[in-house]
Amino acid sequence: MLQNQRNHKTFFMSFKLTASRSRKPNISRFLCNRDGEKFLPIDPDFQKNRQVVGEHNGHKVWGPVEPPTKLGIHGTNVAVDWDVCTGDGVCVDVCPVSLYDLVDAPGHPTSEKKSDPVREPDCIQCLACEMQCPTAAIKITPP
Ligand code: ZN
Repeated sequence: MLQNQRNHKTFFMSFKLTASRSRKPNISRFLCNRDGEKFLPIDPDFQKNRQVVGEHNGHKVWGPVEPPTKLGIHGTNVAVDWDVCTGDGVCVDVCPVSLYDLVDAPGHPTSEKKSDPVREPDCIQCLACEMQCPTAAIKITPP
């Protein structure tokens, strides 16, 4: 009985320690990719914080857009921040419904290839692309 009580106490003490240790400081939204380079992920609240400035390949484009260096966010329910996208292409490979195409973005400082959600309505919300994008450039929002 006494032994059980002590184990119980130890469990809660270690749980508290783990919880406080794993709390991340909320200093910056920057993350690092596998090469250790810093990047700013797509804003998950972009639909509140940005405005639609145009259309491209059948989907909306959320500004600001100042080509060739600022290209905005392509798509709404399947949204790719072209200023974060490095043209890695993993989204093209993992998407089970093949909704992405890699397109040219000449002159963009991050990469000159971008993933474009050209078949956005086909999305089945599996989130494979969002989870595997190396720079967190993709945000899937169910319609
Ligand atoms: Zn597009």
